[in-house]
Amino acid sequence: MVRRGEAMSTSFHGRSYDFVEYVPCHNWIGGEWSPATDGQTLDVVNPRHGAVMGSVAMSGATDVARAVSAASAALTAWRETPMKERGQVFYRLKRLMTDNLEELSWLVSHENGKTIAQARGSVLKAIECVEMGTALPNMAAAGQLDVSRGVNCSTTYEPLGVVAGIVPFNFPMMVPLWMIPQALVAGNTFVLKPSEQVPYSAMRLASLFKEAGLPDGVLNIVNGGRETVEALADHPDIKALGFVGSSRVAKLVYARGAAASKRVLCLGGAKNHLVLVPDADLELSAGNITASFVGCAGQRCMAASVLLAVGEVQPVIDAIAEQARSVVLGQDMGAIINPASVARITRYIDEAERMGATVVVDGRGARVPGAPGNWVGPTLIDHCTGEMPASCEEIFGPVLSIRRVATLDEAITIENASPYGNAAAIFTTSGGVARYALERFQAGMCGVNIGVPVPREPFSFGGWNDSKIGHGDMTGFDGFRFWTRARKVTTKWALQSDWTWMS
Ligand code: NAD
Repeated sequence: MVRRGEAMSTSFHGRSYDFVEYVPCHNWIGGEWSPATDGQTLDVVNPRHGAVMGSVAMSGATDVARAVSAASAALTAWRETPMKERGQVFYRLKRLMTDNLEELSWLVSHENGKTIAQARGSVLKAIECVEMGTALPNMAAAGQLDVSRGVNCSTTYEPLGVVAGIVPFNFPMMVPLWMIPQALVAGNTFVLKPSEQVPYSAMRLASLFKEAGLPDGVLNIVNGGRETVEALADHPDIKALGFVGSSRVAKLVYARGAAASKRVLCLGGAKNHLVLVPDADLELSAGNITASFVGCAGQRCMAASVLLAVGEVQPVIDAIAEQARSVVLGQDMGAIINPASVARITRYIDEAERMGATVVVDGRGARVPGAPGNWVGPTLIDHCTGEMPASCEEIFGPVLSIRRVATLDEAITIENASPYGNAAAIFTTSGGVARYALERFQAGMCGVNIGVPVPREPFSFGGWNDSKIGHGDMTGFDGFRFWTRARKVTTKWALQSDWTWMS
């Protein structure tokens, strides 16, 4: 057993891209850091440098059971803490995260490979999710009504109990905070399973929660991979599971969690289509489309993946190509998470080229001086066809596949045919064209003249079709609904004057 606080004893001397070794990442259970019971660990590799920065506990069913026990032990006191007080933790957390913004941004960048600027953006977005936690007590008052003389019906949102969240590698600070504020303010206790590739942001978050006054056991972290997730899905005392990751794993987790009678919501992968029509504003469109496929090295579920170029839009495509070529790798765009991902992204580009597409901007084999990690530069592939895997499958890298089409309807048909449905956007100066497309896209998050149409708080986040398995959304007030169940109360204190067969 590691003493409380010991695992956080290394000072954060970041603020640059210099390689820094880090402490081992243990589990956070009942307010104590502890390694996996059987001592299993995995190396955590800095993607920019390709060097081992530390190790992460790889937990099994015993560790999950310990975390669930700690969460169960903390449940009654936390549930009985008034919601307004539960919300106060998030005011204090917001201040702590804001005070430590630079350190947190460095940490996200160091373990995930994002540029510091993009990591900072993700931490600021994480802080916005924390703000949602502060707002929830004021939003959660549900309705009541005198439904008859002397009879009142009311609804309250009740916690589910011990709940769990499983998150991906690409936003290690933000995605856990898509779930935790809603779940905790609602009165649940939580077990988080971070991505084993980027466990440190969650580890730091746990220490900030502690500093913000969150009681021990209310938030627990079990690190690990598949085995850990399966133990979470199977554990009978976990009442709900939130998952964010690839569609393949989302479907597995959904099926396994549902088989164990849990409430499950799984956000999956994406293949986002942007439609560009001839009346689009050149500067606005080129800037937004480039930022969408290049930002975070394309490793975000809202990234542009396919550009459906309707009719004569060559000047915009030329401007996108010019902007993509001017990206300084390592400075404007970060690293790819691991060598296997570099190989996968490269394979998609090679295959499209072999099948007849034109690689207009080629990021294959890119290098960054002094940073021997995992790199692919911005890549623009023109004249893609529907048969090419680069046109249909999730690449999750800085690659934009362009398909030339003659009409808006043809573009919409292609977008509609994708099994995914996370995001879609149209670039146009015409309100009528925008509305026509918005009414027809098969996607849960749509945009007009915006490359990354993320619904920010208090709007909720979630796609359609293969991009989301389950009901409801993850963030905003919908998230609160997911982590609660409604109690309907009917009261009668006097003899009812209007008797019916229901009385
Ligand atoms: P992933 O599916 O490989 O991993 C997600 C989580 O599942 C991790 O915690 C991992 O440890 C665990 N896991 C991996 N394989 C498993 C298995 N076989 N059984 C059980 N658990 C398993 O995803 P990733 O590579 O970490 O993240 C990238 C993916 O996440 C992309 O597909 C991206 O589109 C998606 N994503 C979606 C959203 C969204 O909101 N829809 C947001 C972010 C990322």
